Amino acid sequence: MASPHTHDVIVAGAGLAGATFALAAARGGLKVVLIDPQPFPAQLAPTFDGRSTAIAFSTFRMLDALGLGDGLRPHACRMDRILVTDGRRPGAASKAASPAFLRFDADEIGDANGGEPLGYMVENRRIRAALAEAVTASDIDLRTPGSVVGVEQTNPAARVTLADGSVVSAPVVVGAEGRGSKVRKAAGIETVGWGYGQSGVVATVRLGRDHGNVAHEYFLPGGPFAILPLTEQRASLVWTESTRAAEALKTCSDEAFQAHLTRRFGDFLDGATPEGPRFVYPLALALATTLTAPRTAIIGDAAHGVHPVAGQGLNMGLKDAAALAEVLIEAMRLGEDIGSAVTLDRYARWRRFDNVALAAGFDGFVRLFSNDLPPVRLARDLGMAAVNRIGPLRRVFMREAGGATGDLPKLLRGELV
Ligand SMILES: Cc1cc2nc3c(=O)[nH]c(=O)nc-3n(C[C@H](O)[C@H](O)[C@H](O)COP(=O)(O)OP(=O)(O)OC[C@H]3O[C@@H](n4cnc5c(N)ncnc54)[C@H](O)[C@@H]3O)c2cc1C
Repeated sequence: MASPHTHDVIVAGAGLAGATFALAAARGGLKVVLIDPQPFPAQLAPTFDGRSTAIAFSTFRMLDALGLGDGLRPHACRMDRILVTDGRRPGAASKAASPAFLRFDADEIGDANGGEPLGYMVENRRIRAALAEAVTASDIDLRTPGSVVGVEQTNPAARVTLADGSVVSAPVVVGAEGRGSKVRKAAGIETVGWGYGQSGVVATVRLGRDHGNVAHEYFLPGGPFAILPLTEQRASLVWTESTRAAEALKTCSDEAFQAHLTRRFGDFLDGATPEGPRFVYPLALALATTLTAPRTAIIGDAAHGVHPVAGQGLNMGLKDAAALAEVLIEAMRLGEDIGSAVTLDRYARWRRFDNVALAAGFDGFVRLFSNDLPPVRLARDLGMAAVNRIGPLRRVFMREAGGATGDLPKLLRGELV
């Protein structure tokens, strides 16, 4: 009997999570339509997304399994070590940093991660380019520019109306349109969360010396400051500040930006020269109260917008994508209704705990470290010193950050579904 639907899965949002999910679902044999108002060429413009992403080693296995690894590897910088330091007080360069630090070393979990580094730093524009190429070459029905304007999630189908008036229907619609997801709102899924009153300033710098594949995270009173190694002796800076200070850092001259860096870090970033535009991202927590609704599943930032302190937001989103693709593909192969409540509940049960636990953990971390009260400072310095001395605990953190814990979807083990 001919299918009453135009597609098997409707994916709203061709960002990093939506495009990866679409690719995984299509590779497994599902007929996918992918909708986004931003066509891929617009997403690749130098002014679109200046971020770089710390890709956990298990997430990189997924990109490899989807055929993106070879194109990304020349642009992926190994992160062999991560140094976390309770940073300097304001006024900065002249004052001594706290002696408290944490050191994570890939060698310590060598066997568990097959000798891989802790993760790879890759510029988002490179991931977007690899996804654009793979999606365009696939049989995904790409509707860009196209925008979801209406969603009906009633049995037996989800029906989505696009801005041009066309309508697509499928047993399930996947909301991957980021924090403002229309699909999530249409399904009546609420979010809980709050703003941090902080923004992340993102800049790429060329370094005056070799970074040695080491990532640094400093916890300053204004918020975390990360220096993340990139290929070609460059680094991506993620500098958290109050939203007003962040806007000023975005628009100031390169010379003034460099002077601010020196004031904070003394000669640590000596010789670093800014490259390209700077970007500002307001930071807020937004966690969906559920991952599914009738004929609906949400993934990525549509489901959980978290603070970038641990570089895990996209890793969580890609784990959602892997889990959901696996659940839907297996249901299709068993001849089940892929959009039924029973099928979608398998996805929700798989991902709910991990997402809530990580979002809460990062939130607590930011609060603990964005505080300069002496007793709080003492407590966290003692905590860091303790974790640093206890090898097994440190290894637990590393495996968690590598995304290799828990019930892993096949793609994160490097296998196609
Ligand atoms: C400063 C900073 C640093 C970060 N660093 C890291 C890191 O190191 N590691 C990590 O794992 N994560 C990191 N993250 C988090 C990561 O960037 C996000 O989790 C990720 O980009 C979210 O991707 P997404 O595809 O879910 O959502 P988005 O990137 O928001 O994409 C949503 C897509 O939906 C489209 N869309 C919007 N409305 C509609 C509509 N009506 N119809 C159809 N499509 C629509 C948009 O055009 C867009 O393409 C960082 C975040 C920030 C702010």
